[in-house]
Amino acid sequence: MRITDVTCHILQSKVEQPFVSARGWVYSTRASCIVEVSTDEGITGWGECYGPAAVNKALIDTQYRPRVIGRDPFDVEVVWEDLYNRIKDYGAQGFSITALSGIDIALWDIMGRAVNKPVHKLIGGAHRAEVQAYATGLYFIDMERLVEEAVEEAQKYAAQGFHAIKMKIGLGDAKLDLRRVAAVREAIGPGVKLAVDANHCFTVPQAIQLGRAMEELDLMWFEEPISPEDHAGYAQVSQALDMAVAGGENDFTRWGFRDIIASKAMDIVQPDVCAAGGISECRKIAALASAHGVECVPHAWGSAIGLAATVQFLAALPDTPPCLRPAPPMLEFEQTPNPLRDHLAKEPIVQVNGIVAVPGGPGLGIEVDRAVLNQYKVA
Ligand code: CA
Repeated sequence: MRITDVTCHILQSKVEQPFVSARGWVYSTRASCIVEVSTDEGITGWGECYGPAAVNKALIDTQYRPRVIGRDPFDVEVVWEDLYNRIKDYGAQGFSITALSGIDIALWDIMGRAVNKPVHKLIGGAHRAEVQAYATGLYFIDMERLVEEAVEEAQKYAAQGFHAIKMKIGLGDAKLDLRRVAAVREAIGPGVKLAVDANHCFTVPQAIQLGRAMEELDLMWFEEPISPEDHAGYAQVSQALDMAVAGGENDFTRWGFRDIIASKAMDIVQPDVCAAGGISECRKIAALASAHGVECVPHAWGSAIGLAATVQFLAALPDTPPCLRPAPPMLEFEQTPNPLRDHLAKEPIVQVNGIVAVPGGPGLGIEVDRAVLNQYKVA
């Protein structure tokens, strides 16, 4: 089989009620670079790149596409190494890797379709037929009702069946952050798991101080407390706190994760299959983590394609540690309004009672709805 073309589609949708994170970014649109890889056998594979879509498209169109056409999709890791070694002198992290991720995912989709097996069957098999999902949300929308809106949104997820929720923190006021997290914990009760995500807005001492204050609230993890460049700072925060510290959505490749994992700078690493180097590279990152007793719980933030790729990868991750009643790695099921996540697949990935079934169809296990693709396509 030979690859005949690589096409990037930039999809964009408007967010009716814009929301804000601790970065101060206002999310008023959702966009994604979707990668379509065609072959001479009529099989098409889909991938997705994390981050600003136009840059991913430009990288793929100008740097990767000419080197991928004519290759055999089953040579997925040969292609990966070739593309990476072609670009790493100019960027071994960031966009060059997010763009590469989209191609890698599409090649795994093609391989699965070619042998009529889901991707998880090609990467070692599923440790579980269904995954536990946690709802990501509780951004900042109404600055006058920050505590109330968080409580209402958390109660909504609990009522929808979620058994775990991740909320945003980082309001520039540690007392308000603490009050807001405590209010959510009280509202959802002890039976629903809760994590917090600071989107790397704190200094090391701020993170340690707030982390200690939050420890009595029974949190699953404290995500991205500090800036992703400061791996030594992550080690300080992780050592100072009893609760788990998580991060890694802004880290890339096995080399980027190597020192984080070896130094145990984080208790949980969160590579994103659409960012860190695709399914091929995330498997290597997970192996590094396993060897060091670090949990791997992937980050996910994208369309139905990225979500499906994450579910396939997650299904093949072992329990850490294996035991009688393990706590399997959970699926990040982001819940902010996003039609690209909810409608791009003909049979969307949904949760029921906090559980998402691992798709058993070929490749990523979803079928892209071209009418929806064209509806949101802007370039
Ligand atoms: Ca995050």
